[in-house]
Amino acid sequence: MPVQWGNARVSSVPCVLGSTGCQSVVAGSPAGNIFGHAILRRRHFPVSQPPETYRLANCAPRKMRERRAQAGIRANATRDICGYCSHNPHVRTLADRYAQLRDTARVRERALFVSPRTTSELELQARWFAGDFGKHFVSTAGDKIDIVQFGVWNREAGPDFRDTAIRINGSDPIRGCIEIDVLDRSWETHGHATNPAFEETVLHVFIERSNREFFSRTRSNRNVPQVCIDPAVLPDAFSANIPLARMGRCQAPLKDLPEEGVRSILDAAAQFRLQQKAARIRRKIDSHGRDEVLFQELAAALGYKENKLPFALLAQRLPLKLLRDERDDCEALLFGVAGFLQTADLDTYRRSTREYVRQLWDRWWPHRDGLQRLILPTKIWRVSSTRPVNHPQRRLAALSVIAREWSALHRMLGAISITAAKNFFSALDHPFWKFHYTLTSDAAQRQMALVGEARVADILANVLFPFWLAHDLDPSTPLRTSVWAEYAKLPARLSNRRLETGATRLFGNDPRRKQFLRTVAHQQGLLQIYEDFCMQDNSDCAECPFPEQMKKWM
Ligand code: SF4
Repeated sequence: MPVQWGNARVSSVPCVLGSTGCQSVVAGSPAGNIFGHAILRRRHFPVSQPPETYRLANCAPRKMRERRAQAGIRANATRDICGYCSHNPHVRTLADRYAQLRDTARVRERALFVSPRTTSELELQARWFAGDFGKHFVSTAGDKIDIVQFGVWNREAGPDFRDTAIRINGSDPIRGCIEIDVLDRSWETHGHATNPAFEETVLHVFIERSNREFFSRTRSNRNVPQVCIDPAVLPDAFSANIPLARMGRCQAPLKDLPEEGVRSILDAAAQFRLQQKAARIRRKIDSHGRDEVLFQELAAALGYKENKLPFALLAQRLPLKLLRDERDDCEALLFGVAGFLQTADLDTYRRSTREYVRQLWDRWWPHRDGLQRLILPTKIWRVSSTRPVNHPQRRLAALSVIAREWSALHRMLGAISITAAKNFFSALDHPFWKFHYTLTSDAAQRQMALVGEARVADILANVLFPFWLAHDLDPSTPLRTSVWAEYAKLPARLSNRRLETGATRLFGNDPRRKQFLRTVAHQQGLLQIYEDFCMQDNSDCAECPFPEQMKKWM
């Protein structure tokens, strides 16, 4: 379904909104157009109601709309999507319902399973997490320590548990991480005191005290309270099943909710999340312009979680306009400023790579002095936890090809189409990088995609769909049917720690759990709920309003 994108021409706008009719209007007023182009507005009217008597979301004067938005009033919502469908201006959309649910937000606590008598660090951690040691302690300094939230297992560098909360002498909950060691001195001997990943630690737990006193201090010299626990008090029985997270209180009402109801809440949260992303992108566009923001967002998405920062820095330091002006040197500029061309010694490269590196170097050399201050430090790159195929050098090559193919990208964006986006990314080609993982690796036997399917799905979910939505005039109005309908089709490709944690907390062992997470939209909805409720909760579910709200959802 073609839409206006940049200067691309709009042809037709089909509309399927249940019982509504719709009109298409090309609005040419630059004042109403964030991109400075004539763009398409769609207006929908109930069939039974003449258009002139129906209040249009975008017809209200701008100031009035802003006042309404500030007051949280969406009385002039004129379109709806997905099931919860009414075109009465006073009826809420699914995203509105979710926003209201979110605003009621807070969280109980429960012991979970029994764990083993052992002094191994992993089992010690598991039993701590299971609550076998209890929740109330006295620190080595004599302070009363209450565990409000056991958090989740940390699968990355740093302390053992993240998103925990404790109270010290009845204080407000203090959020942060908990580290568990066998020995008190492990804090020093393991280097936690100088490791920035331990900066957020709020509690250090151990079982064995040394003859002399050891303090747990962070790199910024903050004192971390210490608690000594005694494994002798533990029961013998232990389940080797170490959960990623514990089931939450909402698991019971969600289990009782019909499938349609669970899908409805996930849809609502996903629509809300998509609107939030679109609003963020609109704000950025106001400051930096559409193309630069799109380029920055694509760069950040190609950086993955590990290298998001260096990729974002690169896109800011080498804006799209500069790269397009220097089209022939674009790739060399990106590799040079990334710090990947620090050595001019070609002997350090394999023979098959030398010619490619020589070309990069020859094009980088004339720019190097002028860009010296912008070159990223080597330590900013994180490569140890990335799969070879996702190495940042391959991603950077993909970014340079995207910059070169910007006109084709523009054409692709004219259609809100998953297929068109997939075709664009699968057609990206690079003679060197389709066979190499890094600048120094051997050539691979088989050709590899520059941007794989899972990454394209991520780009669609986190960049392209929010952009398509931001392209509409007012993202505070309900999602455009076409955007949501396409978005809802996106199949989920991957899972991650946060998603699995959220799924365990909300769905536990509900047999329907898998099917609730088959689409990107539902995964995104789950993440939104997890962030809005679980991540905000300091009571281990006790004061969280989500379970009660679920009972009323249908
Ligand atoms: S939404 Fe999260 S915090 Fe709230 S009851 Fe469920 S698991 Fe607990």
